Amino acid sequence: MRKNIVAGNWKMNTTVPEGVQLADDLVNLLKGTKANCDVVICTPFTHLCAVAAILEGSPVCLGAENCARHDKGAYTGEVSAAMVRSTGADYVILGHSERRQYFGENNEELSEKLRLALDNGLRPIFCVGEVLEQREDGSFNEVVAGQLEPLFNLPVDDFKKVIIAYEPVWAIGTGKTATADQAEDMHAFIRKQVEEKFGKQVAEATSILYGGSCKPGNARELFAKPDVDGGLIGGAALKAADFMGIIEAFS
Ligand code: PEP
Repeated sequence: MRKNIVAGNWKMNTTVPEGVQLADDLVNLLKGTKANCDVVICTPFTHLCAVAAILEGSPVCLGAENCARHDKGAYTGEVSAAMVRSTGADYVILGHSERRQYFGENNEELSEKLRLALDNGLRPIFCVGEVLEQREDGSFNEVVAGQLEPLFNLPVDDFKKVIIAYEPVWAIGTGKTATADQAEDMHAFIRKQVEEKFGKQVAEATSILYGGSCKPGNARELFAKPDVDGGLIGGAALKAADFMGIIEAFS
């Protein structure tokens, strides 16, 4: 059956020493407990090596927040999928709404990033989600279906490595969480799209995470929904105790 996953997205927060401390705090909170889900923290590129050393021997996995669309070469300032993988990271967030909005990432670019991530042994956490206007005008299913297209061009064995994160943009960092029913409806819709493309067995095995102002206080209700398989957590991943509270929603 599919896995439950709680993944943190630190975004552009913390210096390296602060990030090491945060990772260490989380590892210590998890010691002696048995998390009922997979736990991943996705950090800035600069932190990956140092955080990998802290996570060694712990149940927490490491991911990056992005990777380049090119495999190597004269792309000053870019970080390739192979570079990310060489730090010890196993995951990479792709298509986060902030990358779509501020850096113009589209399906074509995301298809290239997906290819490189998968070829380098990284598991993509692929984000989709509508903006407020699209929620209000009712086009949200259509928008999300369009954003899923890069995944549906993958060979099935590659698709099986992907985790999908539904993150309504109007809920990210706003304190305005989607209701558990809104999340469930969209997750069920996404799973149906996967089923139509890859079949029921693959759809049932795909983890679909919810993201958008998820906190210890609302995680349990969201995660109780049958098609919500965990969360991608922004703000609340920056405090080990809050992140731990969300992990414990799976107890
Ligand atoms: C995110 O950006 O992935 C996110 C879910 O942020 P927040 O939890 O802060 O809304």
